Amino acid sequence: MLAAIINVGTELTSGDTLNINSQTLSRRLFDLGIEVKFHISVEDNKDLLKELIEDSKKKVDIIIFTGGLGPTDDDFTKEIVAEVNHKDLIYDQKIMDSIERFFANRGTKPSPNNKKQAYIIEDSIVLKNDLGTAPGYFLENDGIKYILLPGPPGEMLNLFKKEVVPLIDSEEKIYKKMIKTIGIGESLLEEGIKDLIREENGVYIATYSKLGEVRVKLISKEEDKLNNIYEKIYQRYSEYIYTLSYDNIEESIYKNLKQNKMKIAFCESCTGGLIASTLVALEGASEVFDRSIVTYSNRAKVEELNVSEDSLKKYGAVSEEVAREMAEGLYNRGSIDIAISVTGIAGPDGTEEKPVGLVYIGLKTKDGVIIKKNNFVGRRKTIQERTAKEAFNMVRKYLSEKNIYSIEL
Ligand code: ATP
Ligand code: MG
Repeated sequence: MLAAIINVGTELTSGDTLNINSQTLSRRLFDLGIEVKFHISVEDNKDLLKELIEDSKKKVDIIIFTGGLGPTDDDFTKEIVAEVNHKDLIYDQKIMDSIERFFANRGTKPSPNNKKQAYIIEDSIVLKNDLGTAPGYFLENDGIKYILLPGPPGEMLNLFKKEVVPLIDSEEKIYKKMIKTIGIGESLLEEGIKDLIREENGVYIATYSKLGEVRVKLISKEEDKLNNIYEKIYQRYSEYIYTLSYDNIEESIYKNLKQNKMKIAFCESCTGGLIASTLVALEGASEVFDRSIVTYSNRAKVEELNVSEDSLKKYGAVSEEVAREMAEGLYNRGSIDIAISVTGIAGPDGTEEKPVGLVYIGLKTKDGVIIKKNNFVGRRKTIQERTAKEAFNMVRKYLSEKNIYSIEL
């Protein structure tokens, strides 16, 4: 099935509001095996909306609208969809009652124009909105499915999950798998699985890259074919795969550390605590996280981690040697299974010898110290994020080498 998304609202075309709904819906539809052919953001303009619907009808099977279902005059998505399909709007007392209840629960009364929301599209299914007053609509006409959802992203998603998925997902079973990798470039991975894309029709394979990660999504109507492709990708790239779920790298690391009853600690220079806060954002972090020390200045590295003044003078703060001493200094505080150190140049000022993006990451365990030299590209924030991701990836590699990392937790 092919779909189009039409997001209605002048606040979108003017740039005042970022169009989140198109992304959310595209992802959800993709997971259902429905291919989104295009998104359109359109200003509050009746004629233009009509034209876009007429045009979309020729190209897709499902048109999803967001926004413009509210009570005000600039909300008219429902009216236009009804008009295009030659359907009437019919007053529904039950909806009016529920709108009145919604306001009564908040100690207020509906305004006169809320009555507009009690009119439903003839022949449509009304999608109950428990988070707001504007219900959604599902209309099937001339072989096209029209789905109308409210604009506020929380309401939109809630309605989509609860009301829309059962209506559009029932027809055929779709099998899917997600493979998340880190440490291999998208083009290399894509090149390496090209034969699979050609060899097997019937499995949709898409790769995406994001901040040093490459994700491969597999979708098929046939489970055997999907598993076959998956096995092949797994055999070729297992050393880069960190999860087969929707987890982020930090979630995967958290679960693995917990499984192995291990404690981790960080000493961060150029990331300023980012690695720790990424981990601490997860519920239950205390089970695996010991501490993080932000040792930004040279003095802090000496005082907190026992880095030698000589090394700082001789090699500079951003050096393999200092990364090593930082990791060791932290580890020596005891009761830490993995001590991670970070020292680097996040920018904007670097030198020829030590350019922006040069980051050393150290990992100290009972088995010794590993230092990785990285040359990240990008601005300050990107370099910091890449560093955090790479730090977690080093933990993954270490656990994998010890055969205690599971990608299926
Ligand atoms: P309401 O009853 O709240 O008016 P509505 O269905 O009429 O609902 P809109 O008036 O179009 O929706 O949008 C309401 C609010 O929802 C907007 O002010 C905006 O903050 C948010 N919103 C709408 N569309 C989007 C979108 N595509 N992405 C992100 N936010 C959106
Ligand atoms: Mg509105």
